[in-house]
Amino acid sequence: LLLSVDMGDASTVDRPAQSPAHAANGCAAALRDALANNEVRPWFQPKVACADGRLVGFEALVRWHDPVRGVQPADRIIPLAEDNGLIDTLTWSMLEQSLAWLSGNFPDSDLHMAVNLSARSSLSTNTFMSGLVALCERHGVPPARLALELTESHAMVDERGSLSQLTRLRMRGFRLAIDDFGTGFSTLQQLLRLPFSEIKLDRSFVLQSTHDPASRAVIESLVELGHKLDLGCTAEGVEDQRTLDYLRELGCDHAQGYHIARPMPGDEALAWVAAR
Ligand code: C2E
Ligand code: MG
Ligand code: MG
Ligand code: MG
Repeated sequence: LLLSVDMGDASTVDRPAQSPAHAANGCAAALRDALANNEVRPWFQPKVACADGRLVGFEALVRWHDPVRGVQPADRIIPLAEDNGLIDTLTWSMLEQSLAWLSGNFPDSDLHMAVNLSARSSLSTNTFMSGLVALCERHGVPPARLALELTESHAMVDERGSLSQLTRLRMRGFRLAIDDFGTGFSTLQQLLRLPFSEIKLDRSFVLQSTHDPASRAVIESLVELGHKLDLGCTAEGVEDQRTLDYLRELGCDHAQGYHIARPMPGDEALAWVAAR
């Protein structure tokens, strides 16, 4: 019903004008080297509770610290990694670095780390979960402190494989978030079929919520739906206080956005936490 309304994808707005497909041949080799040389790093965006502003965790967002071209955005890195067989290496590097940072700086807290998974990462292999379990053990982080963010397209790539694998991950204690919720196809089916613990409302709705009644209607319905299904709701793309106030009144659980904090390199994120 309401999800057949196509709101478009706001993430295309701040995408570079040139398509990622511009990538010259040398780019993939450069990315491979960058992964080996630790130039590909997670930046961290804080996530807070709408009710009281309390910090609840971080989302890890990939950045490439290219010594020549400067810091490269995710939208340039991910397609390049996906098209050149580097996405699994990238994902494991992000998981490793993010958990190392979390456990090193917040060893005795329940702050969580959310890491994005590509629709093209081999989630359905048996080694994926054992790798995750080993990663958590190595860093002394319980699986409940790691959230895996998936997009709807992810679940559809390999329906059966993903379903059983996602169920196993949930049963093992990992948190699963459905990212960019509300923008995809057959969202409701995915939500009912797959064992998610959290929905992340796409920022296209969130950004428009203060001036667009239709976006408000969508957000309000999705938060209510999420809560009825016993799922946490996070709003992405909160850019002003008015939006945050609105989300609080609505009972939305968590918020992320430039109004709260931008994604930051690890040391800056620590300074941000310390300054609060
Ligand atoms: P996403 O997972 O939905 O992440 C949210 C994106 O919105 C991030 O862009 C973040 O910087 C941006 N954002 C946060 N708050 C605001 C706000 O208030 N206003 C606006 N306009 N934007 C905001 P980023 O870092 O460029 O990442 C873009 C996408 O790339 C991510 O969307 C995610 O799908 C993908 N991505 C990022 N890191 C990774 C990664 O390590 N692995 C995979 N597979 N995908 C990643
Ligand atoms: Mg995400
Ligand atoms: Mg998102
Ligand atoms: Mg997105």
